[in-house]
Parts: sequence; structure tokens; C-alpha cells
Amino acid sequence: MEEGKKGGLLIVVSGPAGTGKGTVIRALLKKNSGIKVLPSVTTRNPRKGEKEGIHYYFKTREEFERMIENNEFVEWVDYCENYYGTPAKQLEESLESGIDIIMEKEVEGAIKIKERYPDSVLIFLLPPSFYELKRRIMSRGAEDTPVIDKRLRRASEEINYAGRYDYVVTNKRVEDAADNINCIIKAEKLKAFRNIDILKEISL
Ligand code: 5GP
Repeated sequence: MEEGKKGGLLIVVSGPAGTGKGTVIRALLKKNSGIKVLPSVTTRNPRKGEKEGIHYYFKTREEFERMIENNEFVEWVDYCENYYGTPAKQLEESLESGIDIIMEKEVEGAIKIKERYPDSVLIFLLPPSFYELKRRIMSRGAEDTPVIDKRLRRASEEINYAGRYDYVVTNKRVEDAADNINCIIKAEKLKAFRNIDILKEISL
């Protein structure tokens, strides 16, 4: 993005799988219709109710690997036996046109995004407890036991990254977590460095 040009706000939400990121983001979108979700590309199978181009762009491993070769990702990761990646073109175009974007990423991807987009806002969503997280992951039923074990191990590793984020929000109640994220977004949009144009206009 050109220096000094006002672009969209980029919000990245992480938190172990099963923390409720998707549910909280859906609640947030009801409170703040100005934000758009940018779906990732993945090789994992769609879960019940997931739609192409809304929740994810679903690809085969071969298609995903071709996209890696063609440099089509801002970042990508091999997570619990599946690829996930952020499509560069869609992200750049949205930010350039001033659209505020929210995306879900696991921790390594989130940190790569922060390196590439230092003005992005990283929010770590915590589960109310590890017990509750385990219950949620197991109740999804879409994955088999080794994958569930892997996700639980990965969850405790991911929580160790929370200190590197800009904000930490606990998902005790979905509505409260969504309200807190909405407050973060409002405050971020008021930061002086995001409002240089207004400051220039009124300065004598
Ligand atoms: P799930 O399979 O539960 O939808 O996602 C597994 C993990 O991958 C979640 O932590 C989710 O936030 C993360 N994820 C989804 N899309 C991307 C992506 O494009 N890049 C990275 N690095 N992580 C992603």
C-alpha cells in the first residue's frame, strides 16, 4: 500500500481451534456491518454447513501446491495435516479499496501477517478453560481421534503465543467477546496514525 494512503483496517483473530472464533466473528458482523471476512484457502474437507467462498475456498493438495508455486499466498501453513493459506490478491485489493478485513489465522500465520502488515491488529481469543476447549473440539465430530489429539496438543502450544498479540479476549460469552472486539476495532480506527488525512485537513 502507498505510504500515507488510507487503506482498510486488517484484523487477525487467532485462538486454538474450538475456541469459537467463527461464532464470535459472526456475532461481531451483526454488530458491525462495515467489516468483511476474507476466507482462506484450505485443503481440509468442508464441515457441515460450510460453504465454498464464504467459510473457505476448498482446494485439493495439488491445486494448493500450484498456488504456492505461483506465489498466490501472503502466508500459508501446513496445520494438522492440511494446508491453509491467505490469498494475496483478494487481501491486497480489499485493503487498497479501504475495506476493513477480519481473518482467522493460526499463530504462525498471524505473526507472518503482522510482519508484512505492521499496522494490522492481532487479537488472541482464549477459551474459558482447557476443559471447555476439549469438549468443543470433541463435539465437532468431523475429525478422528488422532486429529483431535493433535488439535489439543497444538491448542496448548498456541496459547503460549498469546503474549505476542496486540489484544487478548476471553470467549466466556460470545456476545461479550464480540463486543470487546468491536471496541478494539473502534479504538484502532481512531488512532492518530490512521487519521493523518483528517489531521492534515484541519491543521492551519
Ligand atoms: P479449522 O480447520 O478449524 O477451520 O482451522 C484450523 C486453524 O487454521 C485455525 O486456527 C484457523 O484460524 C487457521 N487458519 C485458517 N485459515 C488460515 C490461513 O489462511 N492461514 C493460517 N496460517 N491459518 C489459518
